[in-house]
Amino acid sequence: AGQMDGDSLKVEIAKNSGFCFGVKKAIDTTMSVIEEKSVVSSLGPLIHNQQVVDVLDKKGLSVVQEPEEAKGSLVIRSHGVPLEIYERARKSDIDVVDCTCPFVRKVQKKAESCFKAGKKVIIIGDASHPEVKGINGWCGGEAYIIGSLEDVSKLPELDEVCIVAQTTMRNELFEQLSEAIAKKSKAAEIYNTICSATRERQDSCVDLAKRADAMIVIGGKNSSNTRKLVEISEKYCENVFFIETADEIDTEKFEKYDLVGITAGASTPDWIIEEVFNKMNNINDKSEMERALEESFVSIRRGDIIEGEVIMVT
Ligand code: SF4
Repeated sequence: AGQMDGDSLKVEIAKNSGFCFGVKKAIDTTMSVIEEKSVVSSLGPLIHNQQVVDVLDKKGLSVVQEPEEAKGSLVIRSHGVPLEIYERARKSDIDVVDCTCPFVRKVQKKAESCFKAGKKVIIIGDASHPEVKGINGWCGGEAYIIGSLEDVSKLPELDEVCIVAQTTMRNELFEQLSEAIAKKSKAAEIYNTICSATRERQDSCVDLAKRADAMIVIGGKNSSNTRKLVEISEKYCENVFFIETADEIDTEKFEKYDLVGITAGASTPDWIIEEVFNKMNNINDKSEMERALEESFVSIRRGDIIEGEVIMVT
């Protein structure tokens, strides 16, 4: 199986793909807290990647749904939470490890200050996503959440509005929707809060999808930023495969192509990307996979943070 002609099939990984700064930092911080204190809970699964969640579970991280259920320290994930969660944790005397991504914090703070200034906050994003629910919890839970032009058409006439974006929105859609909202309001302040990691990932995805005969997009099925990469790939490439792990790849399907592109969402660890890359190049074996997994966590523990992005935050 998997007869590949190494000369004719090229596999290329998108320049920016996989773990973003915020996710790396959340895993890194959580790992060191687990090492220090043995009892740690996270409020919801730490990231949208089942394989990583399984590894963290083995290391001793339990997942709770309410802050009051936390055993030991409570980790707040990179998506952030509504303001009231901090209050509830304080009341229950729970030690909070806040891994809210600085990019998300910026959006929360913007929503809070606009709300306090009496403006109507509008979040462009997915209403069911925890990041969006969290942001809404910084402006009294009263924001309008808009995901499509149809949602815009349902809005009443608006006075002064302040528009922000879920950090992982598709840029084109944000621009389209924010413009449509601005037309319905007397005055609109537009803050494009899509994070730089998302922009870079989307840009390199466009670049690769335009050139590739097939695209493999790796990420959790419920990962919002990964789904955006699928949408972008489909726009520029006819053959798009959305997978969570290398197991889902049937290498024979790719034999007819010259160039296969690989990209991955922000919560996809390097070892899964490598596994897919190796499988495509037909050099994968089990022991290599396991080694990659271990190495990945060693390097994460070393705190490999993309500094360029930290600078962008401030
Ligand atoms: Fe932070 Fe962007 Fe990563 Fe979200 S996608 S955690 S905002 S860096």
